[in-house]
Amino acid sequence: MARPETPDPAAARADGAAAPAATEPGHEVQHVRVAVIGSGFGGLGAAVRLRQEGITDFVVLERAASVGGTWRDNSYPGCACDVPSHLYSFSFAPNPDWPRTFSGQSDIRAYLERVADRFRLRDHLRFNHEVLGARWDAGRPAGRWTPARAATAPTCWWPPAARSDPSVPDLPGLDGFPGEVFHSARWDHDYDLRGKRVAVVGTGASAIQIVPKIQPQVGRLVLFQRTPAWVMPRMDRDITPAERWVYRRFPAAQRACAPRCGGCASSRSGPS
Ligand SMILES: Cc1cc2nc3c(=O)[nH]c(=O)nc-3n(C[C@H](O)[C@H](O)[C@H](O)COP(=O)(O)OP(=O)(O)OC[C@H]3O[C@@H](n4cnc5c(N)ncnc54)[C@H](O)[C@@H]3O)c2cc1C
Repeated sequence: MARPETPDPAAARADGAAAPAATEPGHEVQHVRVAVIGSGFGGLGAAVRLRQEGITDFVVLERAASVGGTWRDNSYPGCACDVPSHLYSFSFAPNPDWPRTFSGQSDIRAYLERVADRFRLRDHLRFNHEVLGARWDAGRPAGRWTPARAATAPTCWWPPAARSDPSVPDLPGLDGFPGEVFHSARWDHDYDLRGKRVAVVGTGASAIQIVPKIQPQVGRLVLFQRTPAWVMPRMDRDITPAERWVYRRFPAAQRACAPRCGGCASSRSGPS
């Protein structure tokens, strides 16, 4: 069981005000056995395992309006996994229909939506339920978490990576910068980059995907990097209809392919 970082709801509010109590009128409180926080890969995977263990008395509390986590929030040009798709999937839900060896954000997001349907998770999902903190009430016979106004549960599970807020560096002058500024995880698709002078800050895994996509459109592109990274060809390609047919028909073929894909990736991707 992973404990949330903020043990007290009152402490979790940015404005310092106490969060509403679990029993506040107008807020329905559901008592469940397990509360899972977040519906990215981590939360959905936990939810499937709970069902597989025969536990159906649980909720998945999600602050957004749909599942997907990282793959819902990141939609920048070129967004894709950098681990081969045959490996970047749940072992219990291989996907024979990955379109590319390193599939894109929309395919991964659609895959997670299908996982939610296929493993009958919809009834457990509570969207627009942001967990502001959690409180362990040891006074109860078996103890009880209150992870949000929406639920209490003896077990509360928070995926380790589920702190997916973009981290904007505290650069002096950034607030007053007159041009357009946005984080890759909150891409402004309405902003037309064509012909513009663009600065990309950082050469992490996202910038490595963004730069080749936008460079042909923009007027001038400057990439700022503090520490150079090794960047090597990803060897991305379409997975042919014939290959997909084989994976559908013979799932063992996809399983056999996965470790070899991993070998290709790790030998080619370098410390990006
Ligand atoms: C662009 C990008 C590419 C990546 N590519 C790869 C890759 O190729 N291979 C790899 O292994 N990893 C990759 N990662 C890492 C990726 O984040 C993880 O693989 C995985 O998706 C993390 O899943 P998660 O469920 O733990 O967290 P997330 O996907 O971040 O999901 C967390 C969920 O919790 C919700 N949430 C957060 N706080 C609260 C709250 N207080 N109350 C309610 N809900 C909340 C969020 O809204 C979100 O839906 C990549 C990450 C990014 C950003």
